[in-house]
Amino acid sequence: MRTIAHVDMDCFFAAVEAYDHPEYRGRPIIVGGPRGGARSVVSTCSYEARKYGVRSAMPLATAERLCPHAVFVRGNMKRYAEVSEVIMNTLAKLAPVMEQVSIDEAFLDMSGCERLYQGLHAMGEGIKRAILDSSGLTASVGIAPNKFLAKLASSRSKPDGLLVLTEDQVDSFLEPLAVGDLWGVGEKGSQALARFGIATVKDLRAWPQEWLVERFGKWGAQLYRLARGIDDSPVCPDWERQSYASEHTFDSDVADLNVLRRAIARHSARVGRRLRSAGLLARTVTLKVKFADFKQITRGRSLPEPFDDDDTVYSTACSILDDLGDMPPVRLIGGCLSGLTDQRQLSLFESASEAAPERRKADQVLDAITSKHGSRLVVRGRELEH
Ligand SMILES: [Mg+2]
Repeated sequence: MRTIAHVDMDCFFAAVEAYDHPEYRGRPIIVGGPRGGARSVVSTCSYEARKYGVRSAMPLATAERLCPHAVFVRGNMKRYAEVSEVIMNTLAKLAPVMEQVSIDEAFLDMSGCERLYQGLHAMGEGIKRAILDSSGLTASVGIAPNKFLAKLASSRSKPDGLLVLTEDQVDSFLEPLAVGDLWGVGEKGSQALARFGIATVKDLRAWPQEWLVERFGKWGAQLYRLARGIDDSPVCPDWERQSYASEHTFDSDVADLNVLRRAIARHSARVGRRLRSAGLLARTVTLKVKFADFKQITRGRSLPEPFDDDDTVYSTACSILDDLGDMPPVRLIGGCLSGLTDQRQLSLFESASEAAPERRKADQVLDAITSKHGSRLVVRGRELEH
């Protein structure tokens, strides 16, 4: 059983403007522009402006007609990013795992923290209070057993709201909702389902999984699960989705394997160094090769233990290259490290692969020289022609 919180700031840009300009408070605020621009749209508007029918993504000219007395602000992304950083840093301190979704939205995996609070409601209040204290702004928070439900809960509680959904409340919460409220349905999906008389989640739940899959394929399977509040997707910190890549195109096509190995050595050193400087480990090495005829292949190999040393990256990429066998001349070669993890995320039964101490020492020395003097001052012999 997981405890996932979804945090969504209330009309974020407009709220920052109201915070920075007390004279705007209580008035309709519309962020967007420039005014008079043929394609200008509303980026965000305050709840006071929404009362007049103003909405995000609406042409600014329409908003001016609906609410001429509003405060119109062009917007200041630099300032919004600054406030966002304060908020995200606050959240990162509260949650063991955080995934920032956008400038004003994040998922927190609070599993295991339940006993730090007197119930899930108090947890939500704690999150809201921390945001208010650090930024002066209000957020809406949904807490539920998974991301899908947590996001639905926060959206149903806006503004300045808190909605906690426990497992036993899921059915009664979901059934009356329109199918369009489910992830990945939208207007088009709603229309497709309406043809079968499916308007609400309750209607959707009446159809067996086999029928939905037969009719809608993968999407049907997803609908079946979401209609029952099932969602296993993990809260992924940014670095888990990241990868470190390096590639380059040769001046002329290369058939000599030794030249390719030297290129792999350079890329391995580059991505290895970036990985170590971020304090991360990788699990997968991917080799990308583009041939003279522009055909391209990418082959990945995951190792049983996470690693961060150049030698492992190099030898794994070379063994992928060897397994390719006969191939046409190569135009481009590159590599990528993914499946990133940090030391603290390793489970009880895992450990980082132990590179031989002298190799580890070599990586450290090269990293130190490179960070001080630039990347090509000292290199490994395998990067050189002779
Ligand atoms: Mg928001």
